[in-house]
Amino acid sequence: MFSISDVTLNRDELHGTLANTTAGAIVVFEGWVRNHNEGKKVSSLEYQVYKELALKEGDKILSEAKEKFNLHQVMCAHREGHLALGDIAIWIGATASHRDDAFKATRYIIDEIKHRLPVWKKEHYVDQKAEWVFCRHHHHHVHFNEADFYKKQEIVTNQAKLREARVLVVGAGGLGCPALINLAAAGVGLVRVVDYDTISISNIHRQFLYSPNLVGEKKAVVARSRLLELNPFIEVESITERFSPEHLAGIDLVLDCTDNMATKFLIHDACFKFATPFISAGVFKSEGQVRTFIPSKGCLRCHGAVTPDDSLLGNCNDFGVLGATTSVLGSIQASEALEFLAYGANSTSESTLYLNLKTLTQLRIKHSARPDCPVCKGDVELETCDLEVESIGEARLIDIRNLSDEEVKNLNFTGKVVLSCHRGVRSRKMAEVCRSQGHQHVFSLKGGATSLA
Ligand SMILES: [Zn+2]
Repeated sequence: MFSISDVTLNRDELHGTLANTTAGAIVVFEGWVRNHNEGKKVSSLEYQVYKELALKEGDKILSEAKEKFNLHQVMCAHREGHLALGDIAIWIGATASHRDDAFKATRYIIDEIKHRLPVWKKEHYVDQKAEWVFCRHHHHHVHFNEADFYKKQEIVTNQAKLREARVLVVGAGGLGCPALINLAAAGVGLVRVVDYDTISISNIHRQFLYSPNLVGEKKAVVARSRLLELNPFIEVESITERFSPEHLAGIDLVLDCTDNMATKFLIHDACFKFATPFISAGVFKSEGQVRTFIPSKGCLRCHGAVTPDDSLLGNCNDFGVLGATTSVLGSIQASEALEFLAYGANSTSESTLYLNLKTLTQLRIKHSARPDCPVCKGDVELETCDLEVESIGEARLIDIRNLSDEEVKNLNFTGKVVLSCHRGVRSRKMAEVCRSQGHQHVFSLKGGATSLA
């Protein structure tokens, strides 16, 4: 599917490989070598490719596109070596039943290849000079250097510490957008974004990494490309799933930018289990709070907190919030993160900050740790929605095999409910959806109906 060629690409041949009478559309993209770039007269191009890795990653990108956009077939060829003016540098072809899918898939492939493929480009100019063009992460060519980028902040922080830091941000919404912008701009070496959600028009007033033309796209994917446009000197990873403890792998600090209690408590427990510090923020109407949690320095369970049910609390979508409010709180989270990463301590690790944006007043409440708290020591069972057949007990078992997703979401969830399907895969997904809507007592039967036999 994905190939690298050191000779001129033949468009007719490539097109022929996709001939298919069942497909309703083909979209073809060709990237050419042009005779100018940023004011310089280009005479030829040279690509160096780390072939082994590029082939693997290229195939991965095409498989992702095929699955995401229901493609019939997809093909991509990338050049290496010397290219003359007018040569095809990259050829992408995608066939699908619907043209919209083929367009979107092609766009996705171009963007991902630019971000992920280990390809280096050298431009040869008419005046006999040549220059490597830094386009590692970027749509545009970067000719400026890293030291200049950080010139005005180096005197107030420890840039080297920030560059080696790896930060996970869970939630790329109202808190996440300002937090992410600030972390990326400050030069945090690796930013990992976790968000399963897609952009909707009512989000954008407070989630300003996005714009109305991107409604329906995955937040984490768009956030990643926006952050790399802002700062091409860092790494950004996007994960388009619900938060799961494995996302903590290799991470120094977590920012909890979510707005539902079930996920907040899962992040809380997972961070204590794996001894990862995290900074949590919450917003309610025009008020907010920020707290930094450090292993062994006190947790929410010290004083017996249990995971609350979201239906009792509500979130930004239910109560409404101003973008300026989430923006201030998300920026405080980032500022606290930068302080913590650069110097190992910050102001909200000792006490929680409560801020009222209407009155511009603040309140600080000092943290207290219970010395024998097991959670603080990492001894915590992570809540999962998978339930073994032996543990069903009094719970109501509901077979969802003949129910649509909508029907499942609208079930009556009083008491403990266990969803079951054929093998336990769809029921787990639906249990997670129901939990994210505030129904904390919904579980999924592990192994599905086969485990009941
Ligand atoms: Zn504790």
